[in-house]
Amino acid sequence: MYDYLIVGAGLFGNVWAHEATKRGKKCLVVDRRNHIGGNTYCENVEGINVHYYGAHIFHTNDKDIWDYVNSFVEFNRYTNSPVANYYGELYNLPFNMNTFYQMWKVRTPEEAKAKIQEQIEAANIKEPKNLEEQAISLVGTDIYEKLIKSYTEKQWGRKCIDLPAFIIKRLPVRFTFDNNYFNDRYQGIPIGGYNKLNEALLEGIDVRLGVDYFKNRAELDASAKQIVYTGQLDEYFDFKLGYLEYRSLRFEHQTLDTPNHQGNAVVNYTDGETAFTRIIEHKHFEFGTQDKTVITHEYPQEWTPGQEPYYPVNDDKNDKLLREYRKLVDAETNVIFGGRLAEYRYYDMHQVIGSALAKVRKHFGE
Ligand code: FAD
Repeated sequence: MYDYLIVGAGLFGNVWAHEATKRGKKCLVVDRRNHIGGNTYCENVEGINVHYYGAHIFHTNDKDIWDYVNSFVEFNRYTNSPVANYYGELYNLPFNMNTFYQMWKVRTPEEAKAKIQEQIEAANIKEPKNLEEQAISLVGTDIYEKLIKSYTEKQWGRKCIDLPAFIIKRLPVRFTFDNNYFNDRYQGIPIGGYNKLNEALLEGIDVRLGVDYFKNRAELDASAKQIVYTGQLDEYFDFKLGYLEYRSLRFEHQTLDTPNHQGNAVVNYTDGETAFTRIIEHKHFEFGTQDKTVITHEYPQEWTPGQEPYYPVNDDKNDKLLREYRKLVDAETNVIFGGRLAEYRYYDMHQVIGSALAKVRKHFGE
């Protein structure tokens, strides 16, 4: 008899299992996939850790969480500095002095500010009615046209003029020559990949892979006193109130017989012609020196039930449905719901780890 059955071997489930085990409890972790790690799983191809479900860069401002993950595996000094490719023109991201020099050949912050301000004033948008107007009123037309418009339209599968303005609340603009995408104090990639982190979290814990909770529910429920559920919220309740919607992605992984394809881990394609949004070259996350390289084209997709769920669509319709499902959660006394799928919210890795640690402490009355 286990104290806890943990459904899902992603970061939430693994942190929970680790912490409960540390407190003397016996845990069983099951996952319907044939590997641990959830979406942080890496597949080793040609000695390269391929981020199988999309590029994952760890970043946080929270020293406790940084120390926590580093207690399981050391992190490298990788700094996310994506490059944008607009019909062959290359720009540094996030928008900073390098970008402005590449865009307008301006050399000083004053010149860059004046250029942006001039374009904002020329557009003369008083109250932005859609995402296009909102973006132009924040950064002007050039940056919008070359670096935001088509990328956003590919991501959402809709025109920017048909997307609500509130999606973009602010667009960070930096008047220094700094290509570091994140403002967080700590960032990096686990040395040896995310599998090392997940393996360390689950060390000494019983794990069964390729096991779908819903196909083995009676047996699994009987095996433990309590359940920690990290799968899809609506699926737990057999979708009885309807489907919570997602935006999906399709990844095309490719091995190339060259040591360095694009010279950067992340290149965003901001043109309107290519259907993919990004090409990821995985070896650069860990400064790989292998003879070959592995790249991934990332294609945003409409989601239909049964497909891999990636990003929750937190619009009014889905938020309303979420509130109804939460009422069912409140009535479920023996189950702890946690993680991005069971809470139907976007979590970065540091946030999901923080959430798991907080829930563990609360659960154990600490
Ligand atoms: P998951 O990792 O999804 O784990 C849930 C697990 O439950 C899965 O393995 C699933 O198979 C299993 N499961 C579900 N239902 C069942 C069932 N019925 N039976 C058995 N098992 C089941 N965060 C960052 O900090 N930096 C990034 O750069 C970053 N990039 C991202 C890129 C993409 C494309 C996406 C989608 C997310 C990204 N994230 C990033 C977020 C990160 O992936 C999440 O924070 C993290 O994976 C959430 O962990 P989780 O345990 O909640 O969920």
